[in-house]
Amino acid sequence: MAERSSGGRRFFRKKKYCKLCSGEIKEKEITYKNVDVLKNFITERGKISSRTRSGLCAKHQRLIAGEVKRARMIALLPFKVEYYRSSRKS
Ligand SMILES: [Zn+2]
Repeated sequence: MAERSSGGRRFFRKKKYCKLCSGEIKEKEITYKNVDVLKNFITERGKISSRTRSGLCAKHQRLIAGEVKRARMIALLPFKVEYYRSSRKS
């Protein structure tokens, strides 16, 4: 009698999960005002980190990208490190 050894249920996933889908971060917390949360998803240079890095799903990646852009608009986050002065005619 051969005993089946396939009874072990192993659900060991190394797959990255979306922090928002899992509830680790609430969707409500993702606003342009909440810079501390947004900072988790941008690089030091102020770039939005790629999906493979952040582990977000497409939906929430887009949500965060949108809020980061909004935060930039009102200067809560930098566009980029260097700042170019636009030459104006005086
Ligand atoms: Zn998600």
